[in-house]
Amino acid sequence: MTDTPHETLANLLSEKRTFPPPPEFTRSANVTEAAYDEAAADRLAFWERQARRLDWSREWDRTLDWSNPPFAKWFVGGELNVAANCLDRHVEAGHGDRVAIHFEGEPGDSRAVTYAELLDEVKRAANTLLELGVAPGDRVVIYMPMIPEAAVAMLACARVGAPHSVVFGGFSVDALATRIDDAGAKLVICADGGFRKGKPLPLKSTVDEAVDRCPTVEKSLVVRRTGQEVDWYDDRDLWWHEHVGSASGEHEAQPFDAEHPLFILYTSGTTGKPKGILHTSGGYLTQASYTHSAVFDLKPESDVYWCTADIGWVTGHSYIVYGPMANGATQVMYEGTPDTPHTGRLWEIVQKYGVTALYAAPTAIRTFMKWGEDVPARYDLSTLRVLGSVGEPINPEAWMWYRQHIGGDRCPIVDTWWQTETGAIMVSPLPGVTETKPGSAQRPLPGISVDVVDDEGRSVPPGDGGFLTIREPWPSMLRTIWGDDQRFIDTYWSRFEGMYFAGDGAKRDDDGDIWLLGRVDDVMLVSGHNISTTEVESALVSHDTVAEAAVVGASDPVTGQGIVAFTILRGDVESSPEHLKELRQHVANTLGPIAKPRQVMVVSELPKTRSGKIMRRLLRDIAEDRELGDVSTLQDNSVMDRIKQGLSLGQDD
Ligand code: ATP
Ligand code: MG
Repeated sequence: MTDTPHETLANLLSEKRTFPPPPEFTRSANVTEAAYDEAAADRLAFWERQARRLDWSREWDRTLDWSNPPFAKWFVGGELNVAANCLDRHVEAGHGDRVAIHFEGEPGDSRAVTYAELLDEVKRAANTLLELGVAPGDRVVIYMPMIPEAAVAMLACARVGAPHSVVFGGFSVDALATRIDDAGAKLVICADGGFRKGKPLPLKSTVDEAVDRCPTVEKSLVVRRTGQEVDWYDDRDLWWHEHVGSASGEHEAQPFDAEHPLFILYTSGTTGKPKGILHTSGGYLTQASYTHSAVFDLKPESDVYWCTADIGWVTGHSYIVYGPMANGATQVMYEGTPDTPHTGRLWEIVQKYGVTALYAAPTAIRTFMKWGEDVPARYDLSTLRVLGSVGEPINPEAWMWYRQHIGGDRCPIVDTWWQTETGAIMVSPLPGVTETKPGSAQRPLPGISVDVVDDEGRSVPPGDGGFLTIREPWPSMLRTIWGDDQRFIDTYWSRFEGMYFAGDGAKRDDDGDIWLLGRVDDVMLVSGHNISTTEVESALVSHDTVAEAAVVGASDPVTGQGIVAFTILRGDVESSPEHLKELRQHVANTLGPIAKPRQVMVVSELPKTRSGKIMRRLLRDIAEDRELGDVSTLQDNSVMDRIKQGLSLGQDD
């Protein structure tokens, strides 16, 4: 019936509620409406101006070399040191005493690390890397809990020009070994363990097993965090406190080429086998720094910024380490989970440090909704002035909850769309400019040419759905998939001629605002209609008993695909056959009868990646009774068994 991937069924995702920025926010905002015009007038000149936010040892000769697409070079001939831009220049400018990191450990230990202290530690760590024979271009894998040393390790690598590959601390031996092997790493930096849900979690034993399988690794540098017993291999293990602790604090940062590799990071694996994404230095840091300043309106002298992501994801790279530190921000870093030792932990931390900007994921916000609004109500959250969201589409209902119960109806919400591949935020409201709309990421940032196109690559008019693409190269774009240029071309640049496409569906509403509709692979085809997972999930979450929902299309002899919904209920709501019927009817009433789920089930958990994204492909495997696909990035393997049991019990009709 239609050839676009997302036919919009009803008006659910064409919100009429809008929230203008508070006038006092607009008055002092870092970025105004004029930025869009300036960037539209001359995109490359706009990015050159942003690049001047940084200190360059050598000015570039050319802003962009796009003579060999899709292989881009930005700021050609320019030279800089990324770590010196994040540390030395702030200390030299007299801000050495400013707190860089307010660290909050899960057991309740805390420490403040100033920019001067962070620089000192990074210099010592850089000298240690040099002593261990790490040369520019050598890869270093980092497998750590959320502790300041994780940031130190990353910055020390950047300082000596050794690309890091951070692997989420908590991945299995297999996942770690595959990544070490793919990157060909020479050194692993890890910790004995980390604290998670009130217990010390071992990390070093996982590294030991992985390294046994990876002949490229010469040494492991181990931070002592938990003090737990660890096996020790004298020929390869070194304690961080002994080596970094006694290393010289003198280190002059050398400049590297703007295109020198900064890091490899594997994608979350939501849609399949993770890809090793390569990012380089000058363009990446330019866009990370600009977007962090523009989107969070960061004022380095007064803001206390907090991104709750893990350093193992791109959000932790661009919006804990590189963007904020390039901007001289003061931030909070928290080791643990939001429910340890109690469900008010995050709000307690916001209150303790007077957090002004918070950046979190929809999965967390939906969990807070499930726990109830009385939890944040017990804390003083009045210092907050801007709230961010990233990782998945945020349902309008969750957006409203975030605004009301966390943001006190006063803070602009920035829903930021981007990917590991894009390196930095691409689509987002600007908090001092945009009238925000619950559930929409709204507008490409200045200098970014995101489009929604149809099957043939033509821009769709307002009101229509299609594929989210990027028409022009951007500074922080991935440069390739590590070691596999062909896969880079095939994966991102072959679906549409001359455009980047990474798999997300989107629509434009009547105002031209962009709505993300989930992965095109997840789109359901019901009786000839394309229905997006996001729309049905948002309809379910808009019912006041539902906290979270995941829907998939399961093959159906009559309709082609039938919609199967997995839901988590709010608080202490009890389900019943009537309740399930009501939920199905609620979707039909909101979106139209075609979107009525064939089956709604109540589950206690959903399969998620370690970064908190729902893995619908696994639910589809279950709904269609197939063997499960790649589960290596799944948070908890037993979830799938529990859901399978629920599936046979929870049949609705
Ligand atoms: P893989 O590519 O291995 O399947 P992944 O795509 O989950 O993993 P990431 O790069 O961490 O890995 O996630 C990027 C994806 O997250 C985007 O393509 C998009 O689907 C989703 N996403 C991120 N932010 C938003 C947002 N604000 N709104 C909607 N979707 C978002
Ligand atoms: Mg992806």
